[in-house]
Amino acid sequence: MSGTIQVQNPRTGEADYQITALSDAEIEMECRKLRGAQSEWSAAPLVHRIDVMKRWADEITKNKEALTKALAVDTGRWRLAAEAPDNVAGAIRGWCEMAPEILQPDQGRSSFNPEIQFRQQYVAYPLLGVISPWNMPFLLSAIDAVPALIAGCAAIIKPSEVTPRFIEPVRETIAKVPELDAVLSYVTGDGETGAALIDHVDFLCFTGSVPTGRKVGMAAADQFIPAFLELGGKDPVIVTRDADIDRAVTAIIRGAVWATGQLCFSIERVYVDEAIHDVFVDRLVEKAEELELSYPDMRTKDIGPFIFGKQAAIVAGHIEDALAKGATLRTGGEVLTLGGGKWMRPTVLTGVTHDMKVMVDETFGPVMPVMSFSDVDDAVRLANDTRFGLSAAVIAGTREEAEVIGTQLNAGAVSVMDTTLTNAILRDAEKTAFNCSGLGGSRIGKTALLRFMRKKVIVTNNADPTDIKDLAEDVVPSRSF
Ligand code: NAD
Repeated sequence: MSGTIQVQNPRTGEADYQITALSDAEIEMECRKLRGAQSEWSAAPLVHRIDVMKRWADEITKNKEALTKALAVDTGRWRLAAEAPDNVAGAIRGWCEMAPEILQPDQGRSSFNPEIQFRQQYVAYPLLGVISPWNMPFLLSAIDAVPALIAGCAAIIKPSEVTPRFIEPVRETIAKVPELDAVLSYVTGDGETGAALIDHVDFLCFTGSVPTGRKVGMAAADQFIPAFLELGGKDPVIVTRDADIDRAVTAIIRGAVWATGQLCFSIERVYVDEAIHDVFVDRLVEKAEELELSYPDMRTKDIGPFIFGKQAAIVAGHIEDALAKGATLRTGGEVLTLGGGKWMRPTVLTGVTHDMKVMVDETFGPVMPVMSFSDVDDAVRLANDTRFGLSAAVIAGTREEAEVIGTQLNAGAVSVMDTTLTNAILRDAEKTAFNCSGLGGSRIGKTALLRFMRKKVIVTNNADPTDIKDLAEDVVPSRSF
């Protein structure tokens, strides 16, 4: 391992940047350094960590321009790049606000014996390892590390080798906060670097594809460390016969085409009642054709390039497979090469079935395959016919009807009367992925912070200890201890 990795620019296709993958020994050394500083970090009062983290948020805000520029080259898109520094700084400030209440340990008395009292103690895992993907480079590198650092862990983060330009400006922000610099490190490298990192951490947060997640999960099990896996999706949306068609079309296009469909919770399957199928598809096509590629000026228009050239080939493969098996292409569908980058206009397919890759495998592109259903039970069956289960959406005639359908879907988050609403509740509610979309619990809501703590209990007996001779034959713990 170790060596130089060439990085392609998504808008030109040229390899115009390079990183060095850390060697095994370098990773080990970095982990040892972070681990060494962690005991002081976790022993400090929470208010100290909160103060340090808030200073980091301020540095991110100050360095917003450099971060945005780097992220824009990494991803080929402007608007999402420009939002990312504010989103990360906002997440840091939000966790700082919530942490004191969440980290207040419970205490009380035994419900079996009031003479016995207990006090919970939370003990942070020493070193968190983060391995993150290319589709939202900064946000997904930080989303788990921020609550972990507040909890008292140190963190080593290995972002994707596909989008590493943002790492340098992030390091600049960390260097401005020396207390944080001692316990947080961004390292460069590829899959091998990620694999090596697993051997040296105490807790792992991985965001990426299901196949890599499986390998990472097995490696973590081998090390006997907890692994939180946030993986791919194939999110369905159900549109019932009484739904407002314009509302549905607006929500679905945004949910499927935003970020060129390169979001884990993108809408990737559309199930529409047969009574409105044709009208719905006509409107969907009409609205899809109104959108424009943000080329040549990345700061204008709607749709960026594929971040990762190989992804364009996967998306094209899904469309080809569907067409070969009898689907109809209503709009889009072609990989365009513009200025050296790979692009695709919003794509609508009809006549699709669950025998086609586009309905069962993660596409990760701006593709909307539409299938009709005869009744709501049929729709629920189709939506649940998947090995994924990240999120889902329902748009019906009324909110109540949509909520009833939503409760029957096997997914961690269901958007009702809209799509992709998960982002709005990141600090408020809990969600766990179903099936192979993830493993290990919620990365949002208060348990997202508590998961980085080992739960220890201090139990004290205020009365005399029970003599062994006084124990009954049939020991009943509630009475005897
Ligand atoms: P990927 O699985 O190819 O790579 C993710 C990361 O894992 C990269 O940093 C990579 O270098 C590293 N890696 C590769 N092989 C490894 C190994 N053997 N051991 C350790 N690390 C290894 O994923 P990707 O293509 O970068 O990202 C796209 C995928 O991420 C999609 O499937 C998408 O749905 C998923 N994703 C999920 C979420 C979520 O929250 N559920 C969010 C964003 C993206």
